[in-house]
Amino acid sequence: MDTTDSYYQEILDGLQQEGNLRSLPEAEHCEKWICRDGERLLNLSSNDYLGLAADRQLRDSFMAGLDEEEFLFSSSSSRLLTGNFSVYTELEKLMAETFGTESTLVFSSGYHMNTGILPAVTDSHTLILADKLVHASIIDGIRLSAARCIRYRHQDYRQLETLLSKNHADYERIIIVTESVFSMDGDVAPLPLLVEMKKRYPHVMLYVDEAHGIGVRGKHGLGVAEEQGCIQDIDFLCGTFGKAMASVGAYVACRKVLREFLVNRMRTLIFTTALPPVNVAWTKFVFGHLDGLQEKREHLAAISARLRDAVRAKGYDCPSESHIVPLTVGESGKAVLKACEFQRKGFYVLPVRPPTVPEGTSRLRFSLTAAVTDEDMDRLLEILD
Ligand SMILES: *Cc1c(COP(=O)(O)O)cnc(C)c1O
Repeated sequence: MDTTDSYYQEILDGLQQEGNLRSLPEAEHCEKWICRDGERLLNLSSNDYLGLAADRQLRDSFMAGLDEEEFLFSSSSSRLLTGNFSVYTELEKLMAETFGTESTLVFSSGYHMNTGILPAVTDSHTLILADKLVHASIIDGIRLSAARCIRYRHQDYRQLETLLSKNHADYERIIIVTESVFSMDGDVAPLPLLVEMKKRYPHVMLYVDEAHGIGVRGKHGLGVAEEQGCIQDIDFLCGTFGKAMASVGAYVACRKVLREFLVNRMRTLIFTTALPPVNVAWTKFVFGHLDGLQEKREHLAAISARLRDAVRAKGYDCPSESHIVPLTVGESGKAVLKACEFQRKGFYVLPVRPPTVPEGTSRLRFSLTAAVTDEDMDRLLEILD
């Protein structure tokens, strides 16, 4: 060990003692299972919510139709230089038409999206009002921005209302920031209520991250905003391609002027190599199929409701209204042990611990996918306790 390393080692030792030490788990994927030491565990920690990433047929049909021009594994440049292949424009056009918004803009990842948009569209005369439980990438975006930020208690819209009325006169702009389906509690924000609140003031905008909603919710799979009928009323309707869409990247659906502004000011768009054209082509392919996947969405909704009911019946407090279902045990060590137990019994569930979730709320996080069958659920519910 170098002399400088003892500092880091001590911190790691501390994490180990608290049961919060992390490592990169080896994950060999066999369709909907994780294969480990000759055993097959049902993957209940995947974001492949529609089971599309594990769908061999879908991939084959994409490959069969792939144009050689699009079969490129690098764009070799930022989109502002020579990286803006035509498939980007095609995807953005398709998405804007489908969402019915003036425009969309595609990014390299959700992390790029959330760390890029907020710093670009805010300044020191801006106030950001963000839900206490927004994703780490949003927090980092807020940190990079010059805006002032106040976090309101999770889904406490009365507090948000108070903050708006108290602060609106002091800022040129206010941006309310929320997720639609929250990634750790699995509960769902009432977007029309937020729309109504922002409309009371002319200078308030709404930013919604649908990372866990796109593909999964809404009649056409366009997310919670579609389900709740307010796509047009959200100023920055964001989402990612890495989860239900089985791809990589992210998007915002927004007005043209905001898109143009981002192209000029968003550093995580400007100063990074554009996604490889082959990935963008795959995203376009999957997005084009979303409408036809209603059966998968309905199955996912049904098994999710079953799991939520079972968790509540065991006496756990469970705020979930989605396919993300936490089983909150409190202490980190306990969460780790419980996860091991599920894994021994054939279910790949992972513990989620601080700092991902608040102290004392360590949990198992079940994230269901449409590939999970009713029979899989029978077996899971049998061992739930
Ligand atoms: C996963 C996630 C992201 C990050 O998206 P990536 O494409 O994986 O970088 C952003 N926001 C939320 C709410 C997420 O859950």
